[in-house]
Amino acid sequence: MEPRGMAQSSSGKFRLRAERVEAVLPILKRTYPDAHCRLDHASPLQLLVATILSAQCTDDRVNIVSKDLFAKYRRAEDYAAASQERIEKAIQSTGFFRNKAKSIRGMAAALVDRHGGEVPQTMEELTALPGVGRKTANVVLGNAFNQSVGIVVDTHVTRVANRLGLTDHASDAVKIERDLMPLVPREDWCLWSHLLIFHGRAVCTARNPKCGDCPILQDCPFGKKTIKERLKKRKN
Ligand code: SF4
Repeated sequence: MEPRGMAQSSSGKFRLRAERVEAVLPILKRTYPDAHCRLDHASPLQLLVATILSAQCTDDRVNIVSKDLFAKYRRAEDYAAASQERIEKAIQSTGFFRNKAKSIRGMAAALVDRHGGEVPQTMEELTALPGVGRKTANVVLGNAFNQSVGIVVDTHVTRVANRLGLTDHASDAVKIERDLMPLVPREDWCLWSHLLIFHGRAVCTARNPKCGDCPILQDCPFGKKTIKERLKKRKN
């Protein structure tokens, strides 16, 4: 059992974080009314393939590559029947293409074998597919099936959540997700990731975040500290 003092301080920390989310969420919603999944897709299968391709690659590049890919490969059976070389060639410019091609073919073969060629709708079934981790499963469940099972934690969500002081974990996506889930209203889980990704790209960039122009500065401990340090530097 947690000692009394520690339990009180951790519940105080939780309350502070929950209040912070309550404060920033409506501001982010107003600032990014169009926040959405930027991977082009017209079906759960397309989103699954695009998300596998998006590892270490920009959404814009994935969208360029997926346009031709989706025109050629329409069903899970098509990917499963294609040779490793053909898929590699089609997705080469997204990087790590050998592993990605292997994942796409393995995932598609598993869909055909176990799910009649359809993308399953549970976290357990999705993460049992080759090349599909919790993040990819969360993207598909939230955006293709409108199911709030977890929160997508990518590099932007990791950075912004840390700067806002909403997690104790610097880089472990599963632990960050576990910290965020009780703080964010469940109906906003999917949108929350899009908002943080949009904010991370536009304002809270990895280098030189634009804290002075940030609409959630008043609720951001990192931003307040950064502004203070910048002012101090200017004075010296
Ligand atoms: S104040 Fe700065 S660090 Fe905080 S969210 Fe805004 S841009 Fe990011």
